[in-house]
Amino acid sequence: MTSQEIRQSFLDFFASKNHKIVPSAPMVIKDDPTLMFTNAGMNQFKNIILGNDPIKYPRVADSQKCLRVSGKHNDLEEVGHDTYHHTMFEMLGNWSFGDYFKKEAIEWAWEYLTEVLKLDKERLYVTVFEGSPSEGLSRDDEAAEIWSQFLPAERIINGNKKDNFWEMGDTGPCGPCSEIHIDIRDDAERARVDGLTLVNGSHPQVIEIWNNVFMQYNRKADGSLEGLPAKVIDTGMGFERLCMAIQGKKSNYDTDIFQPIIHAIGKICDIAYGQNEKTDVAMRVIADHIRTIAFSITDGQLPSNAKAGYVIRRILRRAVRYGYTFLNQRSAFMYKLTDALCEVMGTAYPELITQKTLIEKVIKEEEDSFLRTLETGIRLLDKVMDEAKKSGKTTISGKDAFTLYDTFGFPLDLTELILRENNFTVNINDFNAEMQQQKERARNAAAVETSDWVTVREGDSNFVGYDYTSYDTEILRYRKVKQKNQEYYQLVLSNTPFYAEMGGQVGDSGVLTSESETIEILDTKKENNLAVHISTKLPADVTGGFTASINLEKRRATESNHSATHLLHEALREVLGTHVEQKGSYVSPESLRFDFSHFQKMTKEEIRAVERIANRKIRENHPLHEMRETPIAEAQAMGAMALFGEKYGEVVRVIQFGTSTELCGGTHVDSTGRIGMVRIISESSIAAGIRRIEAISGEAVELLLDTQQDILSEVRDILHNTPDILTAIRKQTEENTELKKQIEGFNQEKIMQLRDDLLQKATEVNNIKIVRYEGSLTADQAKTLAFQIRNIQNNNLCVVAGCVNEGKPSLTILLSDDLVAKGLNAVNIAREAAKEIQGGGGGQPFFASAGGKNPAGIKQAIAKALSLVR
Ligand code: ATP
Ligand code: MG
Repeated sequence: MTSQEIRQSFLDFFASKNHKIVPSAPMVIKDDPTLMFTNAGMNQFKNIILGNDPIKYPRVADSQKCLRVSGKHNDLEEVGHDTYHHTMFEMLGNWSFGDYFKKEAIEWAWEYLTEVLKLDKERLYVTVFEGSPSEGLSRDDEAAEIWSQFLPAERIINGNKKDNFWEMGDTGPCGPCSEIHIDIRDDAERARVDGLTLVNGSHPQVIEIWNNVFMQYNRKADGSLEGLPAKVIDTGMGFERLCMAIQGKKSNYDTDIFQPIIHAIGKICDIAYGQNEKTDVAMRVIADHIRTIAFSITDGQLPSNAKAGYVIRRILRRAVRYGYTFLNQRSAFMYKLTDALCEVMGTAYPELITQKTLIEKVIKEEEDSFLRTLETGIRLLDKVMDEAKKSGKTTISGKDAFTLYDTFGFPLDLTELILRENNFTVNINDFNAEMQQQKERARNAAAVETSDWVTVREGDSNFVGYDYTSYDTEILRYRKVKQKNQEYYQLVLSNTPFYAEMGGQVGDSGVLTSESETIEILDTKKENNLAVHISTKLPADVTGGFTASINLEKRRATESNHSATHLLHEALREVLGTHVEQKGSYVSPESLRFDFSHFQKMTKEEIRAVERIANRKIRENHPLHEMRETPIAEAQAMGAMALFGEKYGEVVRVIQFGTSTELCGGTHVDSTGRIGMVRIISESSIAAGIRRIEAISGEAVELLLDTQQDILSEVRDILHNTPDILTAIRKQTEENTELKKQIEGFNQEKIMQLRDDLLQKATEVNNIKIVRYEGSLTADQAKTLAFQIRNIQNNNLCVVAGCVNEGKPSLTILLSDDLVAKGLNAVNIAREAAKEIQGGGGGQPFFASAGGKNPAGIKQAIAKALSLVR
């Protein structure tokens, strides 16, 4: 079976068991501060499992793009070195939310593997949780009992808490799990060593393929467990590993998922796969990482220097570095693999094909810039080695290695490799200590301590903010949160007009008032799809009734910017073309930011044209047409612009102003006229192929125009109220240039005059003609003077000029060539003499100059220079 067929057979199998098949959620997570990337199939169902979202389908199944490169699951260092861990991989999964439990989950897993896919039953092993007396948990006999229908007791292995008890986090749903392992070794090998002894032993051909989690408990903040009312089945099977088993391969990289990419790498580097372990590792790293980078770009996450973007940048750099070190790639090459990737994955993930140009551009630019960094780092390392050599050392400090790691992206092994080639080593302990310190700094900054929710009353939280700005409400629950020595409260309200930060629009602030008090709400955020209101204080009586009112001025300004963003988006597509796709947006009361795909800088005319179109739409005063519950297919038929890498439900909210149609959950003006006016204040590049505009609207434009008007009037005043400012300024500039020229001419004449005077007054010492000048020339003029004198006489000549120009002292020394040949050096003289003016200088042996801080010392400086010449 091809990988395509295997993926489909999994979905078909669970569809036949009445599961709803859902699409993969994006790999990059945008609205969750606790998780940057999807690392398991269950992530997209977290809110259902926590009970915050309703259960729409009690049974679902899917294939989910996962990334395990940070946080709880980080396989990065394994990737490429082994043959079965990837950064990005697909996880096949089936779920039950309060529906079936262990019996069906286990029976279906077995049926799928052994009857549908016909895997050899003799090669399968399973694990069950052995229990934990300290937690009062007994062995998962229930699961073992169900497995015993299919497997002999010795192949049902007990596993410990680390491997066989799954927890969502420090608190929340958890439970035992049961893993299926497969032995794909040759028969001869299997006869020699019993597979049973290799399970969970990091053998590359006896590996876990499928994990079945049985969530039946809830862990509270004090560590205790309570029963979960609606039990959950959560399973995850590694798609690439499954394909390896079915296709009879010994490595994930030998399956049809990776082979075309490996071939493409081999062709570019002219190195065959399977010849040498080092080049094989490099090829696997690159084949793996190109997937991660391309998929994160299509999800809208470009490499950058912060957060998720930085993680992606480091992955790309890891691949480039392996190519550089082991495959001799000195220039960008990864971007050339996009074709092969599209060939393998383009059918299942068409966004790869539609965004191919962007993927290539972004990767190439990143590669180029990292290769430059590599060169700089290598030069730095050369310098460090030079210095070490000079002081007779063969070890460089861990601190230097850490700087290379931290600022230039040099992993320790690359530094070590270069050092080894030069017979150097590094102090690894110091390096590790530096690394540890950095990790601790990061941990302390991120540490958040949350208490358990305190439930005041049961009920659902409703957002009423599309229709109301103030609303009567009650507190449903609250908790205390501690972060960086700050303490605040999160409140969940029954009804709330507060918009929680989402889709780029900032959250509302405002107040919660009762008869006796007013509580300030600083911000509103979404956490696990729950709107939480942030306050520094808890009301004295949390059970009472309140009125929740948002800060209206802030909201109106935000809405104006949000609606203006939609109009600009549409205008950009009209002016630049339909390749313009939204890549990010941020809407606050002060301004808006909109990132989009486009390959050149926008011209002034294009910016003006975009503004013109948007402002016309504002004046046309299109009313807001809001469709709250539109089926997604219908919305797309209306031409709504959806975002790749966004997760949409089946019904969406559509926002229309005239012909502008977008899927959007934000709040908006009731008609475009309220925006007043929009103005783009900057246009820039934020990554290859991505431009950013910043704009303001409404009153902010008025204020901007006022400021510009004021500046203009002042300029006009300065120009004595001339009616035509432009002509007046041009004329002044021309006059200025002319005057400068004249002054230069006069100066030149003055210098010639000075040259003749000085030569006449020159003294002779030891046969050397000494020309001494003390005055107010600039350093440049002094240089011209010295060279002019040299033009007349270039033997037995020494010129010493000491100047103080606008309070700044300078010293100029010139020697004729014969004196230099005799061993005199102008640089040494200038440096020594410049001490008198508290300065330093440099130059060449025949000419040197120095600046300083002490004008009073100029006489002594001249005297010093002369005495040195003598
Ligand atoms: P392992 O111990 O092999 O790293 P795991 O215990 O981390 O696996 P789970 O978190 O249970 O794995 O994930 C479910 C399944 O996803 C695993 O059984 C495996 O088939 C697959 N899987 C996990 N991590 C990776 C990875 N980095 N690359 C490819 N597949 C993976
Ligand atoms: Mg793992």
